[in-house]
Amino acid sequence: MECMLKSPLIIFVMGGPGCGKGTQCKNMATKYGFCHVGLGQLLRQEAQRGTRRGQKIREIMLRGLLVPTGIILDMINDKMLSCPESRGFLIDGFPRELIQAKEFERIVGRPPDVVMVFDCSMETMVRRALHRGQVEHRGDDCEPAILQRLETHYTLCEPVFTFYQQKNLLRNVEAPENIFAKCCSVIESLQRLEGVGG
Ligand code: ADP
Repeated sequence: MECMLKSPLIIFVMGGPGCGKGTQCKNMATKYGFCHVGLGQLLRQEAQRGTRRGQKIREIMLRGLLVPTGIILDMINDKMLSCPESRGFLIDGFPRELIQAKEFERIVGRPPDVVMVFDCSMETMVRRALHRGQVEHRGDDCEPAILQRLETHYTLCEPVFTFYQQKNLLRNVEAPENIFAKCCSVIESLQRLEGVGG
C-alpha cells in the first residue's frame, strides 16, 4: 500500500549508553523504510576526519561529554536533507539536553511525533558498553567515559523527559527483553501512520 503520510514522521530515540538504541533503530529503519539518523555514528565519522571540527568532536566524545548543540543540529539537518523522500526519520541519540529539544522545535516548527525512551538498568548499560568497547574498540566505551555518559543521561536528559511527558509524547520502552517488538508497537500505534508496515 502507498504511504499516506503528508509529512514524514519524526521519532526521537533516547536512552543511556549501551541500552541498544543503535541496533533497534537500524532494525526499525529497515522494517519501516525510515531514515536512520544515528548521531553517535555520524559524529564518529566526522571525528575520523582530520579537520579541526573532527578533532574537537573526537576530544569531546572520548571524555563522554556532549558535543555542542549547533554541530548536532547541523548534522541532523544534513542527514535529513540527504533522504528527502523518506516517510520517517528515526533520530537516535537525540535530544540529550533540553536546549536541543527546544532548538529542534524552533527550527523545524513542530515537535517530534513520538519520543521513545529505552529503560534499562544501570548495571546492564555498563556491562553492555564495556563489552562493546572490547569488541568494537570504541574509544569512548571505557569506564570513565561510560560513567560520564551515565551521569549526563540521569541529569541532563531528565528535564527532556518531563518536557515530552507534558506534551504526552513520551513512550517508555523497557529493555532489553523483546525490545524490538515493543519498539514496533510504539511505531504502529502512531495515528498518523498509514500504509507503513513490515
Ligand atoms: P551512547 O548512547 O552509548 O553514549 P552514542 O553513539 O549515541 O552512544 O553517542 C556517543 C557520543 O556522541 C556521546 O557520548 C556524545 O559525546 C556524542 N553525542 C551523541 N548524541 C549527541 C547529542 N544529541 N548531543 C551531544 N552529543 C551527542
